[in-house]
Amino acid sequence: MSNIFEAKSVLKKYGNTIALSDFSLSLEKGEIVALLGPNGAGKTTFVKSLLGLLRISSGELSLFETDINRPEVKKKLSYLPEKFTFYSYYTVESTLRFYASMYEVEKTLQADKIDNALRELGILELKGRKISDLSKGQLQRVGLACSIVGDQEFIIWDEPFSGLDPIGIKDVKDLCIKLKEQGRTILVNSHILSEMERLADKVVIMNKGQIRAVGTVEEVSNGLSLEERFYRIVKGESE
Ligand code: ADP
Repeated sequence: MSNIFEAKSVLKKYGNTIALSDFSLSLEKGEIVALLGPNGAGKTTFVKSLLGLLRISSGELSLFETDINRPEVKKKLSYLPEKFTFYSYYTVESTLRFYASMYEVEKTLQADKIDNALRELGILELKGRKISDLSKGQLQRVGLACSIVGDQEFIIWDEPFSGLDPIGIKDVKDLCIKLKEQGRTILVNSHILSEMERLADKVVIMNKGQIRAVGTVEEVSNGLSLEERFYRIVKGESE
């Protein structure tokens, strides 16, 4: 098995705020992992550190068994941040084309890849629409389509269910399984537990910058529902 990323004893401080502490985690190729935690737990800080967008205070991080700052590792992953913006005057298609170029999809393949990605997200009919005319849920689907328009083997989604209705949520979960079947590896940051419960090979419960539980859903739940276990961990620590 090959290692997609590895974090060893990572510490990240913003001034006096400790956002990650003694954070150690690794991910194998082909896994779906859910990073779960309440707001402020440190999920986004971890992802941004892994992407080299933030400098960690101490510890070690590697991506694809190499230095996270090497440009070639960035080409193997795609990242959908929690908050993203597109040029409002672009159409959906040109937005996807922008990402396809960024992900170095061969020019001759771009049209097909764009249609595929839009189809996967159920928004092929929005292809010619302007970004400014889309609803929040439609925009989220465009964001997700951009994240899969290339063939990146590691996909990172920060709060992918944001703004989606129950049908959209189901679509994203189905897509997640499909991507895994293609051998891709997916890291999902979410505070919506129930959505990840049946999906994740591995769940990581974070609170206050630290990992509190890690393993399969069964291991982490330990006889309770994942939600109850999560609640007990987080609530227990706020008392
Ligand atoms: P999550 O993604 O789990 O909601 P974050 O990683 O965004 O959590 O935040 C972790 C902690 O770090 C929080 O206490 C947050 O207030 C703090 N934090 C995040 N970004 C900054 C920043 N740029 N400056 C100072 N503190 C920050």
